[in-house]
Amino acid sequence: MEQITLDFILNATGGRLTRACFNCRCTDVSTDTRTIRPGSLFIALRGARFDGNAYLKTAFEKGASIALAERPCPGWPVVLVDDAYVALRALAAAYRRRFSLPVVGVTGSVGKTSTKEMIFSVLSQAFRTLKNEGNLNNLIGMPMSVFGLERQHEAAVFEMGMSAFGEISALSQVAAPDIGVITNIGVSHIEMLGSQENILKAKLEILDGMRPGGKLILNGDDPLLAGVQTDKAEVITYGIENTGCAYTAEEVESGAEGTAFCLRYPGGSIAARLQVAGKHNVYNALAAFAVGRVLGMEPDTIAAGFLQYAPTGYRQKIERVGGVTFVEDCYNASPDSMRSAFDVLRTVQKTGRRLAVLADMLELGDTAPDAHRAVGREAAENGVDVLFSYGENARYYQEGYTQAGGTQGAHFTDKAALTDALCQMLREGDAVLFKGSRGMRLEEIIQTAGERW
Ligand code: ATP
Ligand code: MG
Repeated sequence: MEQITLDFILNATGGRLTRACFNCRCTDVSTDTRTIRPGSLFIALRGARFDGNAYLKTAFEKGASIALAERPCPGWPVVLVDDAYVALRALAAAYRRRFSLPVVGVTGSVGKTSTKEMIFSVLSQAFRTLKNEGNLNNLIGMPMSVFGLERQHEAAVFEMGMSAFGEISALSQVAAPDIGVITNIGVSHIEMLGSQENILKAKLEILDGMRPGGKLILNGDDPLLAGVQTDKAEVITYGIENTGCAYTAEEVESGAEGTAFCLRYPGGSIAARLQVAGKHNVYNALAAFAVGRVLGMEPDTIAAGFLQYAPTGYRQKIERVGGVTFVEDCYNASPDSMRSAFDVLRTVQKTGRRLAVLADMLELGDTAPDAHRAVGREAAENGVDVLFSYGENARYYQEGYTQAGGTQGAHFTDKAALTDALCQMLREGDAVLFKGSRGMRLEEIIQTAGERW
């Protein structure tokens, strides 16, 4: 982060200073007293279970030079504001505007982090690029990531997540993207928003903060995104099925070693390769290619960037363990990402036996039983020969699986029992997909099964 002055903080937030502070400046922003360093700006956030305002004194004792808070701290310089969340965003927005560099915002129902990482791999070939780390995509994490901008940076890409209306709008107004990317419109958060049309509307809020002359890059295979028309940005589409898109992929060949395809772009085509399997990664690559072209990159430089991409943090990992292929995807699970996981399983295992160990998809509210049944049916339709399920709602996978003709497998409420059954079932040449929400900690089964089988 570049240094910010007290005046900058006061101007950006409209806050009121409680105690004079001459020549006060900050070299770092933190919302957590554990990461406060001398010279930090401490932003005291108030949540359901914590109140940062209670830690003001600690923050100053640890060296914070200024705090942004809703309560004063006698003897210390606090910039008082009505709402520290709003102030955090206002400050990040003002900070972002100190830099003139292209900013990319990525939203969508699934594949945001993966697409952000793919875009980062591509842009890093030509520009010193900043990204938000991991999944820091919410109303706190994304604005905090903006403070990572420094003079050396030449481009930035930020993932924007949401669970309700208004959030993407707020994040877009912070990041002021020149390019917006929407990966797809699925069913995540449908319980909050009511319908897919509303989810689309919420994602399109990315237009709210976009720079004039901005580009909106959309997945043209998504039925809802394909119909988007706007005069707030130039729409650019990518897709595999919809050949009318500006960026398309043909002759997609995917296997355990990676994926090859012919990428067609306005004015030419190029042979592209990815180190990862599955059609969903081709979509993410097409989005990244479009971003690279908008920013003037040469096709072969972009294609070189594709090869730098590797999934992070429990997302898709393919391992060969004693003759069995483990497809591990324990970062999150939603009906939409389950579909891409089945595609990966089919891709890496074209002929041999396919097993799946599926745990609960969390946060589906009332739709959980139906959603799990539907995924169970898709498992059978995607040629899963054996389905093991684990968790509370996972038993509905079995119902759907059986309805669609699946015959082998069982439901478990105990990880050890599932691991035993799996190890007994496994034979050389099998492929097993492991997928469930992060909270289900499927990696525990993978580790024991990997050691024992
Ligand atoms: P979150 O809402 O947790 O931030 P996200 O949108 O960032 O999720 P990722 O973490 O990128 O999504 O991907 C989650 C899973 O979805 C991946 O492990 C992969 O299985 C699948 N996936 C990735 N990209 C796509 C895509 N474009 N379409 C469908 N599924 C995808
Ligand atoms: Mg994410």
